[in-house]
Amino acid sequence: MGRLAEIQKKLSQKKMSLKEFYQDFIPKIKNRNLKTNAFIEIFEDELEQQANREQEYRGRLDGLPIGIKDIISIKNRKLTAASKILTGYQAVRSATVIEKLEEQGASFCGRTNCDEFAMGSSNENSAFGPVRNPLRLDRTAGGSSGGSAAAVAAEMCLASLGTDTGGSIRLPAAFCGITGLKPTYGRVSRSGVIAFASSLDQVGPMADDSLDCAILLQAIAGRDSRDATSLNLPLEDYVSATQTRRLKGLKIGLPKEYFQIQGLDPDIEKQTQSAIKNLQSAGAEIKEISLPHTPYGIAAYYLIATAEASSNLARYDGIRFGRRAEKFESLKELMINTRSEGFGAEVKRRIMLGSFSLSAGYYDAYYAKAQFVRSKIQKEFLESFREIDLIFSPASPSLAFKIGEQVNDPLSMYLMDIFTVSVNLAGLPAIAFPIGLSQNGLPIGAQFIGRPFSEAQLLSATASFEEAFPSEKGGLQC
Ligand code: GLN
Repeated sequence: MGRLAEIQKKLSQKKMSLKEFYQDFIPKIKNRNLKTNAFIEIFEDELEQQANREQEYRGRLDGLPIGIKDIISIKNRKLTAASKILTGYQAVRSATVIEKLEEQGASFCGRTNCDEFAMGSSNENSAFGPVRNPLRLDRTAGGSSGGSAAAVAAEMCLASLGTDTGGSIRLPAAFCGITGLKPTYGRVSRSGVIAFASSLDQVGPMADDSLDCAILLQAIAGRDSRDATSLNLPLEDYVSATQTRRLKGLKIGLPKEYFQIQGLDPDIEKQTQSAIKNLQSAGAEIKEISLPHTPYGIAAYYLIATAEASSNLARYDGIRFGRRAEKFESLKELMINTRSEGFGAEVKRRIMLGSFSLSAGYYDAYYAKAQFVRSKIQKEFLESFREIDLIFSPASPSLAFKIGEQVNDPLSMYLMDIFTVSVNLAGLPAIAFPIGLSQNGLPIGAQFIGRPFSEAQLLSATASFEEAFPSEKGGLQC
């Protein structure tokens, strides 16, 4: 049982009060943030209010601290997307996912750090500095939802929300040894969430384990008239799904191309193989499958995501949101100066790349080709799901690396997403969860990928794995 469910239980059984919980929690979140930089802002007013409340716990998420990636609007709170360009901006309304958590009484303990506009794999592209991995402070927490992952790992919240456009929930979950679920495209509303690449973005839960993720997913999933891409399909009972354990008879596919990539860390390879043996010993049927377009996933993703970003980020013009350049002599200069000063290097790189691939003369060669590859990738996945129930793979090719180590090599940073981006291109759900530690004690994550809207099955398989093969947890350094 994860900490969220455990605290819920203690509160319901009156073995603990919210006041007592907060007495322990407040110094923890504050002290650990000094070391990890997981939060851009801690909501001290909210913490104090919860710590002093007279009302007893009323069930569900009542009073429980959830960390929110600073890309999701919370009414009357600052919202920066970890960018200087949004300095001074306050959210005018709450995202639908926030309103849904509020309906259950959740408390938001702060805005978690992330890569600027969610562009990155290490949280080093944040205007507020990198997040330090709570298990090893000289290492990154992964990205882009690095703050949300570190906050869960360091017990600075009971669960958090992240966003995943190409792996941003799953990669940091793997680096920090926690569980993170990227829902099917259309399962969760993005209304009120800052758009990066609208055909790929999804909001999802990050938490201690599958049960805690299920509790959060149950709260946030569903159709929302404010997001036309959210689908009106009935929700499954995700929490119950984690109680029905079944690996026996499950057909699990291993895409051979995923195991042929260069540069897979030997410890990750070893743990993945032993997890596969474990799955087999629990009665799962393992089958090799082929997803031949896998090698083109990264290229297609970085064309499509940047093209969409170049359009989505056009709105930050110094007029409508946040910061405005101080010096300008014309409207054009106002926009140029605001954007030049406000955006960081990676965001600029992507806007340029995206504008280029969409421009006349290059559109067919790049953008249209990437869309073609995308449809192939999608088709391959759906065909493979005729023979299998789930796909199993590592969540990242490398362990949490040192801060600064890869920052000047954008291409090698893009390769971090090798196991995650195809899932977004195909719109599928996937869950990353810990399967063990490396020789030097760093967390290793794997992922299950499922058919569209199979979140319940993913959660159930992960819960079964957790129960049968509990993975060792690394010690905290903060
Ligand atoms: N690392 C990927 C990127 O930089 C994924 C980001 C994300 O999922 N938000 O685009």
